[in-house]
Amino acid sequence: MSAAEFEQIGQVLRSHQRFVILSHVRPDGDALGSELALGLSLKNLGKDVRIWNEEGMLEKYSFLPRANLLTKPPAEPEDVDVVVALDTAIQNRLGNTVAAIKSAEVWVNIDHHPSNPGYGDLVYIDPSAPATGQIVFELLKTQNFPIDRDIATNLYVAISTDTGSFQYPNTTARTFEIAAELVRAGVNVGQISQRTYENYPRRRVELLRELLGTMRFDANDRVASFKLSVATAKKLGVVPEDNEGLIDHLRAIRGVIVAIFFEELSDGKVRVSMRSKNDQVNVCAICEKFGGGGHVLAAGARVKGTLAEVEKKILEEVCDVVSRVS
Ligand code: 5GP
Ligand code: MN
Repeated sequence: MSAAEFEQIGQVLRSHQRFVILSHVRPDGDALGSELALGLSLKNLGKDVRIWNEEGMLEKYSFLPRANLLTKPPAEPEDVDVVVALDTAIQNRLGNTVAAIKSAEVWVNIDHHPSNPGYGDLVYIDPSAPATGQIVFELLKTQNFPIDRDIATNLYVAISTDTGSFQYPNTTARTFEIAAELVRAGVNVGQISQRTYENYPRRRVELLRELLGTMRFDANDRVASFKLSVATAKKLGVVPEDNEGLIDHLRAIRGVIVAIFFEELSDGKVRVSMRSKNDQVNVCAICEKFGGGGHVLAAGARVKGTLAEVEKKILEEVCDVVSRVS
């Protein structure tokens, strides 16, 4: 592993021909938008580019420009020159895409998760970046790689979704400068915001109704949580992508410091999603105790046990941490 500069990464991208771009399982807007943006820019340079994700393109992000280029990995492994992993804190979150790579000369790891251990040959990790899309923008810009309207729109969605629409504390002046440049490159802000935030399927709101029915408060109302069982998910016909952002309803409550979403999985584990509103409460550190990771204010883990067991264990730990905060 070596910490790379954009110039070194740019050199590797310029001097090779066959690429595969990857990102994490249960992808979000930052993962999918960053993948498409970098893939499209390389394609514009005449490169041979594959863009894979274990889940393929999600229905809710199918409005992203050139979304059809992002596919599930092929069954038959392929030879490439360069692999670029984006927004993926640990290698095993690349899922089944890794098995579809027969051989590769160079692995590049570009990410903004502080918990990323730096796997790969060329590593660029900037935990201060609010989105991997922001790092991809800086890479393309410094290397004079193409940023057309389609690429700009993918980057805009990546940055907008990972900053909670430019609200989270790591949103800086630079983020707004980049957004302005993307808008100048042709992003239709009204249309894209509507497609991103006002186009949910009805079942997502019905899911929210169920979740609010399970809402509980602990630690003098400073910890709010809700939970989803496999049975309820089945009853409503929800798919994993319906969950993204629902936890924000808990975070938005005055006085709440930590919001938690417990989702029972069918493999005997519970997916725990956590958000903090106070940097004295590092939810990444809490999730790491349970085998997960993420960022200081947004993290997650998959924990073995029943919904009730995991809920009890996690709430004890979180309440303990929160009780030490003034
Ligand atoms: P979310 O709650 O939106 O699924 O994830 C919030 C953050 O925590 C993301 O940055 C994500 O990468 C990280 N995260 C979520 N689940 C896991 C997990 O099981 N393991 C690790 N290492 N990180 C996770
Ligand atoms: Mn991200």
